[in-house]
Amino acid sequence: MRAEIIAVGTELSSGQTLDTNSSWLSQQLAGLGITTAFCTIVADDLHDLLTAMRVASQRVQLILLSGGLGPTQDDLTRDALAQALQEPLVEDAVALEQIRMFFASRGRPMPERNRVQALRPLSAELLPNPIGTAPGLFAKFGSVPVFALPGVPQELRRMYSEQVRPRLQQLGLTAGVTLYRKINTFGLGESAVEEKILDLTVRGRQPEVGITVSDAVVSLRIIARAPDQAAAQAQITATETIIRERLGTLVFGVESEELEDAVVQLLHQHKVTLATAESVTGGLVAHRVCRVPGASDYFRGGIVAYTDEVKHRELAVPWDLLQTCTAVSAPVAQAMADGVRRRFGVDLAVATTGFAGPTGGTPHDPIGTVYVALAHPQGTEVVRYVWSGERTEVMSRTARLALNLVRLHLLKTATT
Ligand code: ATP
Repeated sequence: MRAEIIAVGTELSSGQTLDTNSSWLSQQLAGLGITTAFCTIVADDLHDLLTAMRVASQRVQLILLSGGLGPTQDDLTRDALAQALQEPLVEDAVALEQIRMFFASRGRPMPERNRVQALRPLSAELLPNPIGTAPGLFAKFGSVPVFALPGVPQELRRMYSEQVRPRLQQLGLTAGVTLYRKINTFGLGESAVEEKILDLTVRGRQPEVGITVSDAVVSLRIIARAPDQAAAQAQITATETIIRERLGTLVFGVESEELEDAVVQLLHQHKVTLATAESVTGGLVAHRVCRVPGASDYFRGGIVAYTDEVKHRELAVPWDLLQTCTAVSAPVAQAMADGVRRRFGVDLAVATTGFAGPTGGTPHDPIGTVYVALAHPQGTEVVRYVWSGERTEVMSRTARLALNLVRLHLLKTATT
């Protein structure tokens, strides 16, 4: 069973609005075992919309349309569907009354233009919209069921759940369950991660395992298809266990969890306080930590020490060190971490320095070189890394590198 989602609207095709309805709908369909084979975006153009519907009816067994059901002249989904079905539009008395009541409940008369929203192609059924004026439509285009839903995300979601999903089940279009699980890792590149799980990412395996990278985070996405929820969940659990065994501490979280979530959780668990001294990351590490609710219990604060003068004055980095080694060096990163740890009286302190570009760098430390230091009760360690990428990428990846250093230290102390 393959579906196509057609999102209608010039604000979508022109890039002004992100089409989140299609991604939401395709996830819902996946949960019913229906694969979304195509997501199409069409501008508010009758001919193009008609073409998109015809093409879709040739290549999939289910069509979901989003948007274009409003009362204005650029809302053309109703007309396009009528033309595709080669049927006239007729006024639906029940729908007209519901739209009138919708306005009456808000103490306003129905504008005449809203009357078009009570129109439906002759053979189509109108789907009530409990929270808006645009009813949805359900019709059969040949043998292909077509559902048209309003573009407003809350309305679309509610109507999908109340109107579309039960009909898909009644029509016998659902086929089992698809479940997803995303496992997030940091510390190795995409190919190095894949090398450890080559047997899992092989094509045709059940459940499927795919790899994606975003800002130095390598994520593994498990996709399990099974006749029912329990069987799909069992597939996910078994594969997740193998991934965790093979990747160990590279795994820091699941779904939308970030490194800072893991760090704050570990700080709580070990009752350890943290402070930051940031040069190249300009406060990003502190910002990320503070985004996590509960961070204030263990995060004391940080200093953005961008110039040499501030590194010396606020963090007590010795002048001769700054002059002999330069600010982008392991000894200065170490002195920054030690300085902020003393100043804030914390257990752990993390410091960053580096060349984010586009200018700067030396033959030994080209643009993208960063040093991250972690000061803890047993000493201070420094890591050097050379990133490729633009300024903001170097900054955000270095912030992650710093958070990961804290995380790995806390994990290690837990086991010693
Ligand atoms: P309706 O059919 O309810 O009239 P429409 O397509 O005419 O919907 P618009 O008036 O263009 O809707 O948009 C209503 C709101 O819904 C806007 O805020 C718009 O950004 C949002 N919207 C429309 N389509 C999508 C989509 N595919 N993904 C996310 N938001 C969307």
